[in-house]
Amino acid sequence: VALTADKAEPAPVPRNGPRIIAVGSGKGGVGKSTLSANLAVALARLGLRVGLVDADIYGPSQPRLMASEGRKPTAHDEKLVPLDTQWGVRMLSVGNLVEPGRAVAWRGPMAGGALGQLMDAHWDNTDVIVIDLPPGTGDVQLTMVQKHKPDGAVIVSTPQDLALIDATRAMNFFEQTRVPVIGMVENMSGYVCPHCGEESDPFGHGGAQDMAVKGGVAFLGHIPLDLAIRQESDAGRPPAAGDTAQGQAFMAVARKVAD
Ligand code: ADP
Repeated sequence: VALTADKAEPAPVPRNGPRIIAVGSGKGGVGKSTLSANLAVALARLGLRVGLVDADIYGPSQPRLMASEGRKPTAHDEKLVPLDTQWGVRMLSVGNLVEPGRAVAWRGPMAGGALGQLMDAHWDNTDVIVIDLPPGTGDVQLTMVQKHKPDGAVIVSTPQDLALIDATRAMNFFEQTRVPVIGMVENMSGYVCPHCGEESDPFGHGGAQDMAVKGGVAFLGHIPLDLAIRQESDAGRPPAAGDTAQGQAFMAVARKVAD
């Protein structure tokens, strides 16, 4: 029997879409992907329903970091279905769509198209989507902010001068494109020698914090340079999932972002 209009369920109240948080950096290699993965895992530990989009189209790291290498997302109604992970984070990465290790040689429009598919996927029942942007302030980043309008951006930098100069560019980029900067994270800040326990600062200390203060944005925390972070990340075990000092450092950042 066909339902008549008056017997049909009332239309669901439209939900606001997920909050979109872009993680950017001025330079590559400063730990943007590592932070994105661990921020996603830490936000899930805080009880949020989290999605992770790897927009680093030319160098996707999330399949490795989130242990989803070789898995392919399915599609439903011509939209991708995000992959589930064991940390309660759902994810999509170009790395799961192309052969592993294969170079992605796409011009801007194709990259933009791929990004669109990752964003316009089945992200229903998601509170927050963390986006791992490519480093710098190029085409993909511009498409991302103009079309998908993040609610805020987190900027990662090492405390080193060269990285900080580029981080300033990233900050200006978000200001110009009217994406509110949630704050800065200083990664690789302080190193404890695993042999002798001595503390040192290979990339300096406090530079990103100073920059945040000068730029009038929040400082979200220091993540130490720690061999365990590199080893666990390479093995597809996000340190944020553990109750270690490294895990706590990521949880502290996530609490500030979730505020
Ligand atoms: P990006 O996304 O900025 O290019 P990645 O997140 O890929 O940077 O990090 C680059 C390398 O540095 C990776 O091998 C990663 O495991 C390592 N790394 C990142 N942050 C830390 C840290 N706090 N301590 C140790 N190694 C780190």
